[in-house]
Amino acid sequence: MFTRDLRVRDNPMLAAAVCADAIVPLFVLDEAMAAGWHGAPNRRRFLYESLRDLDATLRSLGAPLVVRHGEWVEEVAGIARAVDATRVHLARDVSGYARDRVRRLAARVGSVQLVEHPGVTVVSSGELRTGSGDAFKVFTPYYRRWLAAPWRRPVSVPERLVAVPDARSDYVPDPASVRDTARDVVAGGEQAALARLQRWASSSLAHYADRHDDLAADDTSRISAALHFGCLSPLEVAGRLRDRAGGEPFVRQLCWRDFYHQLLAARPELASRDLRQGGPWLDDDAGFSAWCAGHTGFPVVDAAMRQLLTEGFIHNRARMIVASLLTKDLAVDWRRGADWFMRHLVDGDVANNQLNWQWVAGTGTDTNPHRIYNPQRQSERFDPDGTYIRRYVAELASVPGAEIHDPSPETRARVGYPLPIVDHREAIEQYRARRRS
Ligand SMILES: Cc1cc2nc3c(=O)[nH]c(=O)nc-3n(C[C@H](O)[C@H](O)[C@H](O)COP(=O)(O)OP(=O)(O)OC[C@H]3O[C@@H](n4cnc5c(N)ncnc54)[C@H](O)[C@@H]3O)c2cc1C
Repeated sequence: MFTRDLRVRDNPMLAAAVCADAIVPLFVLDEAMAAGWHGAPNRRRFLYESLRDLDATLRSLGAPLVVRHGEWVEEVAGIARAVDATRVHLARDVSGYARDRVRRLAARVGSVQLVEHPGVTVVSSGELRTGSGDAFKVFTPYYRRWLAAPWRRPVSVPERLVAVPDARSDYVPDPASVRDTARDVVAGGEQAALARLQRWASSSLAHYADRHDDLAADDTSRISAALHFGCLSPLEVAGRLRDRAGGEPFVRQLCWRDFYHQLLAARPELASRDLRQGGPWLDDDAGFSAWCAGHTGFPVVDAAMRQLLTEGFIHNRARMIVASLLTKDLAVDWRRGADWFMRHLVDGDVANNQLNWQWVAGTGTDTNPHRIYNPQRQSERFDPDGTYIRRYVAELASVPGAEIHDPSPETRARVGYPLPIVDHREAIEQYRARRRS
């Protein structure tokens, strides 16, 4: 059965399942997930597009997707019973919720064998351990081991699927039925993701090291949502690009993804609990609201927060800048920021989101936890011409030259743009004082 491995290429779950005489290619729209973060409209639409695409591909191979809506364990157990299944194959996932629902399923299906497969990450979570047998908490040693580890060989696309007859399917939902999505969200599905990756790799991979931090160039791969839903195999992407020009720094980013997944697999509580204690946090509701709306008075921060509302996406560098402003300058608990991101990001992913937030907030795996991002310096460095800011902050579109990074009070009044909600220097002194006390 499919979970977040919505592809036919290099899908070990599917490759193993087709060894049976006949299969039910099942996906259950989990009502519990839809009620929480995972019901976020941008991700829901991406999911529906991915299911439609997968259904079309599976049909062409001989067995349409069987979709069920409901309580995940009940639906899987029900269909296993109805078709007299001997095995349920699925990709091994890492979050506390995913682990728990597989445990509940195992208890529910009795003699039906549950077989878990790799495929969500390049190297399976738990495969690499520190000398003391723990998950890695520091990236660089993990990266060294990850590069040296033997990667599994990608599996082939099955040539033909034989469907169990009469497995009842509910409808595959219509992506157009999802309301309240952002305007410019990346398209879902394996075919769209493959095309995007191919286009991007031929034009931009070679420049990745120089350009991936350039906010205006916006020249990163944008495959994060496709990786989250498994429309692409991370192993296949890493294997194909690793030895090409520009491949090494790009594949390093895929390793960050694996790194956070292996840590969450070992410590699922980190989705909400600090790895190292942070705070004290302040309940700055007005500051939090201004941050969410993109009205902080810091142009680069507002550009990023409005990018989120328009595209369900923020450039990685900008994610770090906005997360730092929220947690260090405004002293707002990282969980509130992470929650806002999860409601809007099309690539919202518990491992990547929560653990990146912890990294920036200083409660996570950063070996320099008190790192501060000065929004103006970051803006001058990574958006020197202000193109990124002007793209998203309409009020500032006419502000010329370097003033864009910190417009004067007169300019702000003239164009209707707010003053900064905090004085960065003072806020950081207060942050340091709080840390000392
Ligand atoms: C506060 C914060 C929250 C984040 N939340 C998420 C999230 O919910 N989901 C998510 O996929 N990424 C998240 N990231 C990581 C990163 O910002 C995105 O993966 C990246 O911006 C996606 O764009 P891209 O596909 O063009 O990346 P590229 O630069 O093209 O990188 C390729 C892939 O590598 C992986 N990757 C890149 N950077 C990171 C990173 N820092 N950590 C983990 N994996 C990485 C992603 O899968 C990405 O698609 C977050 C980062 C921060 C600082």
